[in-house]
Amino acid sequence: MTLRLLLGDQLNHHHSWFDAPPQPSVVYVLMEVRQETDYAHHHIQKVMAFFGAMRAFAEHLRQAGHRVAYVALDDPDNRQSIEGNLRLLVEEYAPEWLEYQFPDEFRLDELMLSLAGKLGVKVRAYDSEHFLADRLAVARHFTGRKTYLLESFYRLERQRHGYLVTPEGQPEGGRWNFDADNRQALPKDAVLPEPFVVEKDLTDLHRMIVQAGVRTMGQCADPSRFIWPTTRAECQQLLEHFAHHALPLFGRYEDAMTKRHWLLYHSRLSFAMNVKLLSPAEVIERCIAEYRARPDEITLPQIEGFVRQIAGWREYVRGLYWALMPDFGRKNHFGHQTPLPSWFWTGETDMACLRHALGQSLELAYAHHIQRLMVIGNFALLIGADPDEVDAWYLGVYIDAIEWVEMPNTRGMSQYADGGLVGTKPYVSSAAYIQRMSDYCQGCKYDYKKKTGEGACPFNSLYWHFHARHRHLLERNPRIGHVYPTWDKMPAENRAALLDHAEHVLAHLEEL
Ligand SMILES: Cc1cc2nc3c(=O)[nH]c(=O)nc-3n(C[C@H](O)[C@H](O)[C@H](O)COP(=O)(O)OP(=O)(O)OC[C@H]3O[C@@H](n4cnc5c(N)ncnc54)[C@H](O)[C@@H]3O)c2cc1C
Ligand code: SF4
Repeated sequence: MTLRLLLGDQLNHHHSWFDAPPQPSVVYVLMEVRQETDYAHHHIQKVMAFFGAMRAFAEHLRQAGHRVAYVALDDPDNRQSIEGNLRLLVEEYAPEWLEYQFPDEFRLDELMLSLAGKLGVKVRAYDSEHFLADRLAVARHFTGRKTYLLESFYRLERQRHGYLVTPEGQPEGGRWNFDADNRQALPKDAVLPEPFVVEKDLTDLHRMIVQAGVRTMGQCADPSRFIWPTTRAECQQLLEHFAHHALPLFGRYEDAMTKRHWLLYHSRLSFAMNVKLLSPAEVIERCIAEYRARPDEITLPQIEGFVRQIAGWREYVRGLYWALMPDFGRKNHFGHQTPLPSWFWTGETDMACLRHALGQSLELAYAHHIQRLMVIGNFALLIGADPDEVDAWYLGVYIDAIEWVEMPNTRGMSQYADGGLVGTKPYVSSAAYIQRMSDYCQGCKYDYKKKTGEGACPFNSLYWHFHARHRHLLERNPRIGHVYPTWDKMPAENRAALLDHAEHVLAHLEEL
């Protein structure tokens, strides 16, 4: 007898465990436990999406003839912890083996390792067979180097997998990186594709989570029309929709933001991939096939931009996480300690960019990359928010947030709390960037052009305050070298006014 544990983000239909015909001696175990709903303060839609996807996966296994032990959150025998439930199941089935797939989170990896020897069964672990590179690929690639830069790792992955490379291993189009051709602001007359939403009825699941008293954040306006895909077929539909409608302009408007639309040309595939209902390889290969089939409509910079996100960033941050944990989770390079304003949980602020990005995150459990990085993360870094609190907020709010991908992006890239391991400079900006890349500033209570005084945009003075207070840590960084000569050239009274204004903003964060 063998018990095979499947965690909530291990819903890989094509794992080799399922290659053999179903066997009566193998029982697949999935469980909904308070240990997992409560370790972070999750968005309600995130809890629904995970449980919905786990239930659908269990049903898929049953239909295929496999034996499944599914422990629902409201099951009276549920011990509400992975270990507790495994103990019960070991008593019930008396297995010889407990098998599991390597968890992607450090916390769960430690837990699984600690179980060997405790449960009275033999334990063995398998690869999750999902990622393009193995867990330690980044650590190996960067051995002996002080910084971990994406580019060399990304090129290697492209060559290893043959993505957009010539038979000689050179990049198609003669360049590895088309970022310079991408990342434009959205024109006013841009026609944006209608997002694909599944609209499935998860009312019962929603009721169960609420009745169980799980503490969640954000909203689910209508649980009977849930927007996130929770089955493999739905995820495939989402991928098809993206390839047909959004890929042709993905790269060009990758960094654009608008009040008019919550998704622009993004794929929304992160949840589907992070719970392993879709593999990164199939997503990339499907999109490359679309690019080859529509050469007049999809240019190389669009597909390269997309492949870079998945074969590059996604694999790279996962490898960084495994290279740097557990110390990474304690990094606080700037010693930041400011609590996040309470409106991070309501979206109620007069700052139009934050009102939109936070409001959307709370309403849909989703914001696209530049909203996460250059609006919300930018503001959190400028005010000196405590990276533990910022991490917890991001880990809770987004549908796709699992620590291996959330933490390097948040604590590393966005908050620079690692002192420059993930990013080469802090991602901060004044209002100028937000004004250039979005339509947020039109109609905002604050004036993006004003630096100090009544109605001045808070980003402007906070930007200078941040650089001034961390000068000793940042001045020698070659990527922000231009900031300090500009600051030094400003008349002393302008500098003092900027710092005064920023101090005022920092003292009144709740009222912004
Ligand atoms: C502060 C911050 C926190 C983030 N937290 C998460 C998180 O918890 N979970 C998560 O999956 N992504 C996270 N990201 C990365 C990225 O923002 C999301 O993957 C993306 O917004 C998901 O939306 P999408 O599927 O529409 O992405 P698209 O824009 O369509 O991109 C395609 C895919 O590329 C991958 N990707 C793109 N950028 C990154 C990146 N920087 N790191 C890893 N994968 C990337 C994702 O799998 C994504 O689905 C975070 C980024 C920032 C700046
Ligand atoms: S003016 Fe400032 S606060 Fe308002 S939307 Fe623009 S950047 Fe945001």
